[in-house]
Amino acid sequence: MFRKVLIANRGEIAIRVAATLQQMGIRVACVYSDADRRALHVARADEAHRLEGNTSAETYLRGDKILDIARRNGVDAIHPGYGFLSENAGFAQACREAGVTFIGPSPEAMRAAGDKISAKRAAERAGVPTVPGWLGDADDGLKGVFEQAKRIGYPVLIKAASGGGGKGMRVVHEEGELQSSIEAAQREAAAAFGNSRVFLEKYISRPRHIEFQIFGDTQGQIIHLFERECSIQRRHQKILEESPSPVLTPALRDQMGQAAVRLAKTIGYTNAGTVEFMVDEQGAFYFLEVNARLQVEHPVTELRLGHDLVKTQVLVAAGEPLPFRQDELIPNGHAIECRICAEDASRGFLPSIGTIARYAAPSAPCVRVDSGVHRGSEVSVYYDPMLAKLIVWGRTRQEALERMSWALRRFVILGVTTNIDFLQDLIAHPDVHSGRVHTHFLNEHPDIGQHEVHVPTEAIVAAALADRLSKRGSSSNGKQGREVSETESGPWQSAGSWRNG
Ligand code: ADP
Repeated sequence: MFRKVLIANRGEIAIRVAATLQQMGIRVACVYSDADRRALHVARADEAHRLEGNTSAETYLRGDKILDIARRNGVDAIHPGYGFLSENAGFAQACREAGVTFIGPSPEAMRAAGDKISAKRAAERAGVPTVPGWLGDADDGLKGVFEQAKRIGYPVLIKAASGGGGKGMRVVHEEGELQSSIEAAQREAAAAFGNSRVFLEKYISRPRHIEFQIFGDTQGQIIHLFERECSIQRRHQKILEESPSPVLTPALRDQMGQAAVRLAKTIGYTNAGTVEFMVDEQGAFYFLEVNARLQVEHPVTELRLGHDLVKTQVLVAAGEPLPFRQDELIPNGHAIECRICAEDASRGFLPSIGTIARYAAPSAPCVRVDSGVHRGSEVSVYYDPMLAKLIVWGRTRQEALERMSWALRRFVILGVTTNIDFLQDLIAHPDVHSGRVHTHFLNEHPDIGQHEVHVPTEAIVAAALADRLSKRGSSSNGKQGREVSETESGPWQSAGSWRNG
């Protein structure tokens, strides 16, 4: 087993991974940027190494610097978390060449999964249904695209082969918009991914997003750990995730789980991954993409199965067989996750920055909080605004929703504006209660969370006191911290596509 593992990440995921490693008796090394020198993940690690600079590009995305730190400090393995270097096949390859184990899939599997066109081809080979579309031609490019779009039928969706985080995606409703939309998507894809290749898909109206957790070991065993439904999204970013999906029948669940495993076998997948599907209004399912990493929403699966997915990742990376067989996995009850972010729902979800003046997370049976912050943490302009994840378990979906509602009411974060009120509004919505949701649900309900933030009086008093004691700025008018303009929030965008994963 590894003696020392370096976590190439920050925030809640670095802290969550450190907890498992320490429980396994493994020493935890972390890295931190200048902006993060007092961050919680640094305090939780057994040793910390500085990455000079602030932006992701200068720090957490510098695979060369991170690998150098690993080599000089006797690190056996690197856990990449999600985002940053987690799906970078070149980094996984460099780790392999340096003799440091990368805790994740092989670079080969990552390449096969990372390109949407090759993943779609693999799905077709595995007999997994894909969205009707057209992949274009490597030599002839988009010659014949007008006939192809007509054949597929409008509306069509243009997608980037290397896409992520919804970038390079355009919906086209009629032929007149096709050419200019393709050009815009190509420009966006070239700028974001260095690859302008795009392809066409039928645009599915009101799909549900349902994904399967998969796991493979180096002995060739591949299994699935059931589904998570993540249909509630904003600009392709997941907001609420749950398991089981309220709409899957046992037969459909079985079919989709088997499809996910077949696809994973086709690309020789190892370690943790997620196969994403869309399910249309008729109940037909289509392969969407493979995320070759640990997913943000993995705790939903952990609560239902009682298995630590990070521990499983570490065991498998160390060459051990999967610690469970498919027929030993029996999911229990219902789990829901909400992502707590420093953003203002009443102002177009603009990120909010500042110092956390008060932090009180809910605590009760079956309530889990994976947090990256505590009182005094700086929420800066440099990284993604997700502060914590709140995950609850209930025997039934109804019980889980009641527990989530209670936990959100007890979650107090002052000093920055958060989306907690928005989430309370969201889970109280009758359509969320009845499970009648799809990926455009929030677009169709722009009123959700559109009110001034209400902070309980006692929390304001506590914050004012804390403010006095610490002499740090925190307003007491409900709106807190400082809002960030669209241009200022630029560096957050560079964190990649993990927010949808
Ligand atoms: P990315 O990798 O950029 O996140 P995905 O392929 O995972 O892109 O798609 C992101 C989201 O876009 C999906 O969760 C779904 O909501 C929507 N989407 C993708 N493909 C289609 C489609 N063919 N029809 C309708 N919606 C789609």
